[in-house]
Formats: sequence, C-alpha cells, structure tokens
Amino acid sequence: MTLTDETSTIPVGGPTLEQVRRLVTELPGPRSAEILARKADAVASGVAHSMPISVVAAGGGVVVDADGNSLIDLGSGIAVTSVGNAHAGVAAAVAAQVAQFTHTCFMVSPYESYIDVAEALNRLTPGDFSKKSALFNSGAEAVENAIKIARKHTGRQAVVAFDHGYHGRTNLTMALTAKSMPYKSGFGPFAPEVYRVPGSYPYRDGLTGPDAAARAITLIEKQIGADNLAAVIIEPIQGEGGFIVPADGFLDAVVAWCRENGVVFIADEVQTGFARTGAMFASELFGIEPDLVTTAKGIAGGLPLAGVTGRAEIMDAAHAGGLGGTYGGNPIACAAAIASIDAFENEGLVERAQQIGGILTSRLETMQKGDPRIGEVRGHGAMIAAEFVDPATGAPDAALTAAVAKACVAAGVIVLTCGTFGNVIRFLPPLAIGDDLLAEGLDIVAAALAAA
Ligand SMILES: *Cc1c(COP(=O)(O)O)cnc(C)c1O
Repeated sequence: MTLTDETSTIPVGGPTLEQVRRLVTELPGPRSAEILARKADAVASGVAHSMPISVVAAGGGVVVDADGNSLIDLGSGIAVTSVGNAHAGVAAAVAAQVAQFTHTCFMVSPYESYIDVAEALNRLTPGDFSKKSALFNSGAEAVENAIKIARKHTGRQAVVAFDHGYHGRTNLTMALTAKSMPYKSGFGPFAPEVYRVPGSYPYRDGLTGPDAAARAITLIEKQIGADNLAAVIIEPIQGEGGFIVPADGFLDAVVAWCRENGVVFIADEVQTGFARTGAMFASELFGIEPDLVTTAKGIAGGLPLAGVTGRAEIMDAAHAGGLGGTYGGNPIACAAAIASIDAFENEGLVERAQQIGGILTSRLETMQKGDPRIGEVRGHGAMIAAEFVDPATGAPDAALTAAVAKACVAAGVIVLTCGTFGNVIRFLPPLAIGDDLLAEGLDIVAAALAAA
C-alpha cells in the first residue's frame, strides 16, 4: 500500500506493510541523515536516540525509514506497540474518535470510553476483589498517582523502592528509580521519604526468594519502620534495570509482609503489562494480587495513556478533585486502548507472547551454549534478555553489549540495551511480528555476537 504525492512514495504503516528486512542505504541514509542533522540543531541534546533513522511507517514487525530501509523491530518503541504499530483496529478507532470529539477534559465533562477503559482494567488486573481505576498520560504519572493514593489511604509518608528499579523521569519517579546515569545525574534534589532496598537478582545475589525477601524486610523494619511506610513499589519483572526475574517466593513474601503491616503493595506493570510476559499481567506469573497496579506502555497501541487500578477502598481514599489532570484519559487514547484491549483478548496475543518467548529463549540459549559471554538468558514471554559478562570473572561486559547492539542496528535490526551495568540486550518484539522476521533478527544478533 502506498500513498503517492508529487515528490515521494511513502509506504503506509500498519499490518499491511511488507514484512521484510531491506537495506537500500547505509544507516542513516541520506534523507535520514538530513533530518537527524536538523534534529541536532532543533532538539535538546538530552533527548537522544538509539537508532539513527527517521521513521515514515511501521507495522507488524518492521519499521520503515525515510530512505526506504525496512528494519526489523525487536523493541516495540520500548514495549509499547505490542498489538503492532498502526494496528488496523486501533487506527480505525482513533480516526473515528478524532472526527467525533478530541477533548473535553474528563474532569469537566466525562465520556463513556474512559469508563469502558476503567472497567476493562478493573476486570483484567489480578485480584478477585472490588476495584476502581483512574487514567493518566504516562507511566511516570501513573506511578506518582499510585504513591499519592497510597499516602492518602495510609496517612503515612515513606515509600520503598528496589535496587535496579525504574519508575520514570519526573521528580518523584526519579527518586524511585535506581540508576543515576542517564536518568538522575545532576537533576536532584529528589523527593524525600523514598528508601531503596535490595530485591531479588538470582543470577548475581544467589539468594532464594524467601531469603532475599527477608533481607529486604529486615532493612525496612530496622531503617524505616512499618508504621511509617505507605507503600512498597516494585516491577514484578524489572525492565530498565535488566529484565531481572525475582526468585520464586520473593514477591509473595513481600506482599504478605505488606498485608500484615497495612502497607500498600504497588506492582508497577507499566512495562510488563498487557500480554507482554505471556500473561495479561506479570503479577499472575508469581501468583500475587497487588493492592494497586500501574499500567501504561502497551495499553493503547502507541497512544499516550496510563492507569492506576486497585482495591476500591484504597483508590477511593483521595478526596474528590484530588486526582486528575487536563489530558488524563484523553478520548482518543481511550478509543485506542479499547481497540488494543480487544486485540489482546481476542487476537490470541497472550498465547502469541508465549510463542515468541519460546522462540527467543531457545535461540538465545543455543547461542549461550557456544558462548560463555552470555551469562544468563532470562525473562518471560515476549520480554526476554541476555546478560553479557566476562566469562573469566562474571563481571558485566557493557562494551561487548554496546558492540553487539551497534552491529545489529547497522544491519537493520532495532535492539535495545538495558541493565544497571549496561550489559543486557532486551528483546521486546511487537506481538504482531512473524516467526520468519523474528528468526532473521536473531540470526543477525548471533552474527553480531560472533563478530564482536
Ligand atoms: C517506562 C516505565 C515507566 C515510565 O513510563 P513513562 O510513560 O515513560 O513515563 C514507569 N515504570 C516502568 C516499569 C517503566 O518501564
């Protein structure tokens, strides 16, 4: 499908886009290079990018640039376009809504689609109890609001976050985020009453889940005191921190301790939510029922939307007018979310994430058998990572990781790195990617590693 005007033939994105990797220039090509030069002049340097191209279309498992290069997408714009970029149902719902009305502000005059999204979140998030939701614009904003709600509900101030945690880039969420560079360095002072404790990182700490939980709980009790603690916030599988999967028994022990002590347990499922891990929410994989769940990223097929969902009595703690924002739950984003949630539920995307996880894991484990520089392959569903180490010492190898990522990018495969030590490559393909394209992307990763 093409849209033709006098000067250019630009492919239209979405599921009909040709599903191939095709490089017609070096990256960046001349047209992208021109645009990126303007970017360097016009856009603040703090806003960096990992793939040196300018996008004109995307869909399925590919991203097409201004020079006509077609790249394999193993990042989904950081776990956002899980249903696929420009998903047909999302595009149609957005087009219909934008023609109807674009904004009223839900706090001024409400509309049904916001309530539809809230009902869907209440139904789909873990926990068989009465729930309510509120909608916002970004993951960071959802996290901020979850903390506000937990503080109001408990009348307490302290919040515990974990080593390797990532919760966003606003002031409170920078305080909650562990890693200094690039997220926090020079941007302080940070919000007070945020405390960090070690979590569970089996590959590096060697602790069982219950032992890791006991270590965290002892620190919380001795250094903060349960009576002062409003909330514990954790990603069930840590995202930016390195796709760290906690040992069995860790999360449930922390949840049990929170419940005994009247502390609100918040699962930050901004990255893990909506089928990404092969379950609708990652909390299900660990059998936990969080008091509050934050969502964003995959929720609306690429439109900015976020939610806080949880126990009705906690969610209702904030006074009328205490929660909101001009754009939170914007009608276009809600229309996109309803269409995306329909796709998650009715297009087999939970199962597809499991299949993708099987393909990623078996291929990466095969690579690992022949290459001790891959220290660990871990994750769930379509959220899988490889941690690169020095085989002699087990020390993180960020240079190798950067070299592999750079070679993948040059070969037209969008991969993302992560990890506190910068030594993890994470795979977050759209769930709309085909098996062939995924396999080809992994061939290129394998070649890049062999050459590095
Ligand atoms: C991305 C992310 C956030 C922040 O979301 P934004 O929409 O970028 O503000 C918060 N928590 C987790 C776990 C994330 O992955």
